[in-house]
Amino acid sequence: MFDLFFLPLGGASEIGASCFYLNIDGTGILLDCGIHPRKSGFDSLPNFNLLKNHPVDAVFISHAHQDHIGALPYFVKQFPHVKIYSTVQTVEISMVTLNNAAKILKAQLSENNQDLLYTHDELELMLKSVRTFDYEEEISLRGLAHKNQNSISVTFHDAGHILGSSLIEIKYNGRIILYTGDIKLGSQSILKGAAVFGINADLLITESTYGYLEDTLIPNRLDEIKRFTWETNNVLNNGGSVLIPVFGLGKYQEMLSLIYSLMQKCKLVETTIYTGGIGRRISRIYDTNKYLVKRNYENLNLHDIPQENYLEIEDLSHFIRKPGIVLATSGMMIEGTASLRMAKFWLKQKKFAVWIVGYIDPESTGYPISAANKGDKIVVQNGTPVKVNCDVKKFHFPSHSSKTELLNFIDDLKPSKIILIHGDYESKDKFGYEILSRFPKVKLYNAENSNSISLNV
Ligand SMILES: [Zn+2]
Ligand SMILES: [Zn+2]
Repeated sequence: MFDLFFLPLGGASEIGASCFYLNIDGTGILLDCGIHPRKSGFDSLPNFNLLKNHPVDAVFISHAHQDHIGALPYFVKQFPHVKIYSTVQTVEISMVTLNNAAKILKAQLSENNQDLLYTHDELELMLKSVRTFDYEEEISLRGLAHKNQNSISVTFHDAGHILGSSLIEIKYNGRIILYTGDIKLGSQSILKGAAVFGINADLLITESTYGYLEDTLIPNRLDEIKRFTWETNNVLNNGGSVLIPVFGLGKYQEMLSLIYSLMQKCKLVETTIYTGGIGRRISRIYDTNKYLVKRNYENLNLHDIPQENYLEIEDLSHFIRKPGIVLATSGMMIEGTASLRMAKFWLKQKKFAVWIVGYIDPESTGYPISAANKGDKIVVQNGTPVKVNCDVKKFHFPSHSSKTELLNFIDDLKPSKIILIHGDYESKDKFGYEILSRFPKVKLYNAENSNSISLNV
């Protein structure tokens, strides 16, 4: 048994700026260090001021999405002595994504703007603080002010969410804390789902992203693939092109492998696949790690899938002459991106279609497009209203666990205490209600940013 001090600096009731402080007998640990994707500059950071009177010895990063790692380069500048731990794949991906984010940030901000969180050079410096580990490898930790002879043991387990993603298991004095990060328990197209076997947890700190979504409304994956195939074939057979706005990390690789495998099985019409941007560079990392992580399509190199680079196409009427499927970043069609530029062209084309396959923030530029139906008039980027001539449809290919998946996971882990994080209030309310209905003996905590929780583990 031991006393735990838990303090969320960000990401407690939102998807953004995930950062949780734990103090275990004097050793200070941060779980994740993300930025808020909808905010910019210092506003996007977790509240690091809360660390003023607390020691920090180590940061453990669950995965390379910006809402979990984006603030790390800034944090390392303020706390240069702190060691960073993550999986090999997470670090490899984040050097691509953080450098890309630094480039975008610099372009967005005026030259002398103080809000520039970090530079490319500072990213190189950050690497010096980073220690990489494989899944299931044990890390032994004792902070500078550690008050006990026993050290803390930390292990990464495959979380099945994106390449390199992990659940973080913390063992101390015979007790176990498990932090889910972002977790997908079931299989996706490439990734096989989380690999956590035979573990019990005393305290579970769990994401609640899909807590709001009733399982009766979630289509079965195979049915959804059938619907996707049928709808896509309809558009292609009619001479149209399909635009799929995707996040460059995760959803891009999952959709590319799904589309290719459907074509290989002759279920989907053979057509040109257009890709580009950062997604291509991350696909390379999926390829070089294909034997180092458990996955489907073990021998498939995403890079070897025939694809044309959409960034080399200036005149978008090319997609009328040579139709195909376009996987374009960004997933939320934010300003200045290829997917927004193409979506505006797509909206005018009667034979074309936009498929939405991931989460879109209601405040983002792409949201009105994602919510539109054929024939609607919508306003994009504060412009004049435009008529939606193309087809717009949503498909559910989640990279987070459903509520039922998480409830079954809780049943396996048998934690006596659970802290809910990484979900909006509605998600946490609904998920919390179901946890208590099914496991009435569990002590449930609803984390709030800046509010500490002291508990006995
Ligand atoms: Zn994620
Ligand atoms: Zn997340």
